[in-house]
This record gives sequence, C-alpha cells and structure tokens, in this order.
Amino acid sequence: MEMLPEYFGSMVFDDRVMKARLKSGVYNSLKKTIDEGARLDLSVANAVAAAMRDWAVERGATHFTHWFQPLTGITAEKHDSFIAPAPDGGIIMEFSGKELIQGEPDASSFPSGGLRATFEARGYTAWDPTSYAFIKGKTLCIPTAFCSYGGEALDKKTPLLRSMQALNIQALRILRLFGNTDVKCVRTSVGPEQEYFLIDREMYNKRRDLIFTGRTLFGAEPPKGQELGDHYFGVVKPRVAAFMEELNRELWKLGVLAKTEHNEVAPSQHELAPIYATTNVAADHNQLTMEIMQKVASKHGLVCLLHEKPFAGVNGSGKHNNWSMATDTGVNLLSPGETPYENAQFLLFLCAVIQAVDDYQDLLRLSVATAGNDHRLGAHEAPPAVVSIFLGDELTAILEAIENSKPYNGREQITMKLGVDTLPRFLRDITDRNRTSPFAFTGNKFEFRMLGSSNSISCANIMLNSAVAESLKIFADELEGAENFQAALQDLIKRTVKAHKRILFNGNGYDDGWIKEAEERGLLNYRTTPDCMPHLLDEKNVRMLTSHRVYTEAELKSRCEIMLDNYCKTIVIEANTMAYMAKRQILPAVEKYAGAVARTAKDKAVIVPDAVCSYEKSIIKKLTLLADQIMMKTEDLESTAAKLRDMADVKEQSYFIRDYVLPAMNELRAVADEAESVTAAEYWPFPTYGELLFGVK
Ligand code: ADP
Ligand code: MG
Repeated sequence: MEMLPEYFGSMVFDDRVMKARLKSGVYNSLKKTIDEGARLDLSVANAVAAAMRDWAVERGATHFTHWFQPLTGITAEKHDSFIAPAPDGGIIMEFSGKELIQGEPDASSFPSGGLRATFEARGYTAWDPTSYAFIKGKTLCIPTAFCSYGGEALDKKTPLLRSMQALNIQALRILRLFGNTDVKCVRTSVGPEQEYFLIDREMYNKRRDLIFTGRTLFGAEPPKGQELGDHYFGVVKPRVAAFMEELNRELWKLGVLAKTEHNEVAPSQHELAPIYATTNVAADHNQLTMEIMQKVASKHGLVCLLHEKPFAGVNGSGKHNNWSMATDTGVNLLSPGETPYENAQFLLFLCAVIQAVDDYQDLLRLSVATAGNDHRLGAHEAPPAVVSIFLGDELTAILEAIENSKPYNGREQITMKLGVDTLPRFLRDITDRNRTSPFAFTGNKFEFRMLGSSNSISCANIMLNSAVAESLKIFADELEGAENFQAALQDLIKRTVKAHKRILFNGNGYDDGWIKEAEERGLLNYRTTPDCMPHLLDEKNVRMLTSHRVYTEAELKSRCEIMLDNYCKTIVIEANTMAYMAKRQILPAVEKYAGAVARTAKDKAVIVPDAVCSYEKSIIKKLTLLADQIMMKTEDLESTAAKLRDMADVKEQSYFIRDYVLPAMNELRAVADEAESVTAAEYWPFPTYGELLFGVK
C-alpha cells in the first residue's frame, strides 16, 4: 500500500514538481512570480503550461479548467479538453501559456449584482500562481481570479488577494519602523475548522426540505438530542470512520493538510481542521474540502450537510477562522516575542487588531451574514451577533497597566515600559478556555468564530485583512512622522487601548446580561442579515475599502445587492418548500391517520356497541384542529410571501422577510410539529429527527 508521505500532494503541481520538471531559468522566474508577485512573461508561461500538461496527462487528466469562486459562494469550473487534431487523424495534447494565464468563461449567468448593467457581461479568469494547480478527477484545475473586462472583480478571490496585498503594504511600513529591513513580505495565514453533519442518504432523499434547502423545515423534538453531551469527542462510528478515512486520503492527495477530526456536540455532527496555510490557499483548500466532503459522503451512502442549522434544537455548524500575520522570514507577528523590542512590536500589531475589530465591527458581522447563519449567531450555541474580543485576563491586565501607566501585578511587579520590559513569558502559553467569544486571542493567533459552516472564508478574511491594514496605516502615518519613536509608540499604544477597550470582553458571550452591557458600551448588535448588510455601503466602510483598493464602490454595491438577494431567495425557497410539504405530505398524512382512527372507532362500535371510544375521539379532535391550523398557517405563509412580488427593492424585501415571512414559517412549523407528535409513526411521510440524527451507525 502506498504510504501517506508518498501520495500526499500527488495530485498537486507543487514546488517539488516544478523543481523537477521546469528548467532552472523557468523555475526561477515562476518562483519570483509566486513569492514576489513579479510579472510572468509569455515564454515562461508557455514552458510552465507544457510541463503542467505533461504532468497532468501522465496522471490521466484529459481536461483543464480555470477554477474560480464566483459570488454564488461556491466554485465554478468549465472543462476544456487538451485535444487538438493532428493531420494524420490522431490528436495532440495542447495547453498553451495563454490558456494557463487567462480564460474567458461566459460570465453572463453568474450573479453580478448590477455590475453587468454597468460593465460588459463577459468576464475573464486570471491565474493565481500563488495557489498550486491540481488534478481533480480527470481535470487539471488552475486556481484563478474572475473579473469583468472593466476590471471589476466578479469573484471572492480577487478582493481577498487585494486585501492581503493591502495588509502587506501597511505591515511592512510598521516593520521598517522597528528597523526590520530583511522582511520582503507579510502574509496572513488561516486555519479554518470546518463543522458538518453526516446523515443517511436514503433518509435524506425522503426529505424535500433537505433536498431543496439543506435544512429541515419541520421536525418534532426527538426524545434524545445532545443533552447528555455524549457525542462530543466520542468514538467515531464505523461508517463515519470509513468516510473520514477516504476524505483524508482524497484531501491529502490534493495537498490539503487535513489534520484533526472528531465528533462534535450534536448527534451526527463532526469537525475537520486542517493545518493553517496562507489565506488564499486556505480559502481554496476550504472550498475543495467542502466539495470533497460531499462527494465522498455520497460514495458511502451518506449526505454531508454544510448548512448552518440543519436541525432545530441541536447545535448548528460553524467554521472557526484561526487567523494570524507572518513574515516571509517566518516570524508570527501575533506571537509575543523573547525581547522587549519584539514585545513592543507584538503589542503594536495586537493593538492594530483591537482597533480594527472595534472600528469595523459592522464589516466583520456582515462578512458572515447569511440566511443560514442568522439561525446560529446569538442562539446560545454560537457567539452572539455582537462582535467583541477575548484577550484573556493576563493580556488584558497588561494592556490595562500600560493604559494607566500602573505597575503590572502579574508575576513581577513592573511598570510596563515598552521597549524596556519583557512581557511575562507564560503569556505564550495562554490557552483560551472561553468558547463563547466571537473573536478570541489564542496565544499566537485570533480565532474568529462567527463564520457559518457553508460560508466561503474569503469574505471574513477580506474584511479582517482590510480593517487591520487600515489601523496599521493609521499607526504608520503617525509613527513615521514621530521625532522620538519609542515615546510615540508608548503613547500610541496607550491611546489605542483607551479608545478601544470597550471591544474587549472576557466574560460569557452567551449571557443575556452581556448583550445589555454591550449595548451600554455602544457596541453594535445587528441580529440579522437585513440588519447588517446595508451597512456595507456606509460611508466610512466604502472609504476604507476603496482607499486600500480592496473594492471599488461599484463592487461594494454589487456585493450588497447580491447578499441581500441571496438572503431573500433562500428564504422564499424555504417558504415554498414548507408550503409544498404541508399541503402535499403532512396534511394528507394527518388526514389518513385520522381516517384510520375513525374507521377503527366505527369497527369497534360494531363489536362493542356501548364503547365510548374516548381515545379515538380525542385524537381525531386533536388532529382535526391541527389540520385546520396547518392549512390556515400555510395559506398565511403563502399570502405573506406573495406580497414580496410587489416589492422591487431588495432591501425592502429583506426587511419584510425578516418581519413577516420568517415568523409565518415558524408558526406553520409549530403546528405541523405538534401534529407529528400525535400522529402514528408509520403514517408520518418522511424520516423524523430521531431517525435522521441517530440513523448513521
Ligand atoms: P482548537 O483548540 O480551537 O481546536 P487548535 O490548536 O487545534 O485549536 O488550532 C486550530 C487551528 O488553528 C488549526 O487549523 C491550526 O493550524 C490553526 N493555527 C495555528 N497557528 C496558526 C497561525 N499562526 N495562523 C493561523 N492559524 C493557525
Ligand atoms: Mg476552535
């Protein structure tokens, strides 16, 4: 059997392959492009393309595709085969440098949020050489950005790369101030922990709601949920273990550093965490991971649910975005250093994050906002919709000491003077025991915990990188002009802590008292997608994001439009699915059971003429009343949703959905679930929660 080190990355055109297959001149220019963003000339591109083609064809590939991430949030590919006719009736395998560098898919069916009206429909894809090409199935996939001919980004990768560049520029300015001249580049890194559910495919196929919406829209509470806490880190069941084994193997072949796997809190819920990578690579790998999870699941007779809230009453799924910044020389800028000097630098970068999160709470919140994630945030299972930072007592006390020029009462009684004193060493070991914080410092990185399980991680990281770039810029502007760097630095850190300490919160984020306190502190609490999304276009946000060239104003408008449109369409599909299931499955089942009970009562009366049949009567009465209610609530839902047709404005639609459609859905669900709990199990038209959640052995 092939050993893991042998097949790891076997389907990736990585550095090992490049070194082995490219002439050294070609390799060096490509390396320069990858590491420093230097322009690639066509002769080099031709040589790289030829090597890629040969490598891919040897591994059975017949097609190539530019692999990109349109604003739908998933990946897109259009396959072209390598074949070209040869004069002798045969074929040759062709793939040119031009085809590698640029592709021209027809962009017209991707959402563009109005950009199409302003710009040409056609778009082009451009190779991202910093993310390795790979073979998936029989296709060579080339990670690419996707833009319109006007240069507007039509995807999630382009702004992500721009935001990484923005942060790089500003972080380098800061490092130069600390006398650091050898660093060429600062990159952000991300390790996204991915949660998911696995359920049986046959049961899935019987549920219209799962098929059409990815979540259950009906379902009475099962006798057992997650209350015993016996699933978390529990022994993995054989079918799931077989799935995980194949998943890992497929991911490893693709160079994805799948590292940790375990059962999660809810029954049937699991998690996979990779080792962190540079952000754009991590984003590509996370998209691949979600895709491969679904593919492998189906080979095992399972379905992988990535929805944020597949089941009411048990935890939903999120994604923890572990984020840091590191230099090309290998220094993690969020790691407290060994010397006073390094510590001053660490504290400055820490302050940059604190200021960024406080100033751009709204952007972070809206970067994770979707109809699905609205079910989680603030529901006592995921962080609240209020953004705050957990630093831990130690670091908080140090910042307070600096702010007040007071002695720090930790291990040593010292007055913190940056650039003179060293932070206590045990800071490095702080582990975060607070799982309720949306944004937690975990020793050498921040863990942003608000992402939904199906979200592309790009959006969150675009906002995070940009906001931190902005605080670094403000810091650099000030410090570059300072006469006395040390004094200015001390003063800047002090002022930053004072100005932004409201965002620091080490307590329990699930506590209702915190929401009140947060409001008193002036923190934002945007509970839903319609509440937060329009703030993307607030003047301060547009100014910041355009000034770092992460987005143009037109791109921002298009994103806002697309995200709200997606919210509305998602919920309308859910409402339609509910109405379908209620009218065509639930009501007929309830009627059938009530009819059977009625016939039983009649039959019994023949045999026992003076039978009271109080059981039958009471059940029939209950079911009759519930059936009426279900019908009425369904009609309510349909007529409420129909009002959306008269609303042209997507923002207006989203408010209406939040205020009227969702409540109407909840009312329908409540009566249908009650009917389920009094209908004989064999009559219920689709698998129940108990069957779905405990059905995989
Ligand atoms: P948890 O206790 O939350 O499971 P882990 O220690 O397992 O935390 O790490 C979670 C993730 O953080 C992993 O994907 C890991 O690779 C990632 N990580 C570690 N260091 C960094 C870093 N410097 N930048 C980004 N992610 C990191
Ligand atoms: Mg975590």
